[in-house]
Amino acid sequence: MHERVDVPLVTWGLMDYNFVQTNKFKKDCATFLNQHPERKEEITEALGNIYSNPKNPHSEAHKLKGKLDGQRAYELDYSNRMRYAICQECRAGTRQPRCLDCSNTPDNTVKMLRMGAHKPAYGRD
Ligand SMILES: [Zn+2]
Repeated sequence: MHERVDVPLVTWGLMDYNFVQTNKFKKDCATFLNQHPERKEEITEALGNIYSNPKNPHSEAHKLKGKLDGQRAYELDYSNRMRYAICQECRAGTRQPRCLDCSNTPDNTVKMLRMGAHKPAYGRD
């Protein structure tokens, strides 16, 4: 007989997620920081907020709808966003195609996809 093992259903904190930045995201960040070098701390802080709790309902992050259903955006300011996916939500959403390489990515992966003004942030992954 197997002994019952309790696996916590609610996970919390940095340890529970894997964080990935796609090449496009890195490129977007580099472009943004080239134009706004004074905002580096703010960008680092925003990433820290996402990484410490990617599902935080009280942060500047919100769930996207429509064509981007299953993904999230973090509001840096009125016009700039960071778009990301938590693959568990990503696979439950209707967005097609899913995030890059989604089928090989564990549920607890947080994938940073794009950032910048609406056009790049909500553009192709
Ligand atoms: Zn995914």
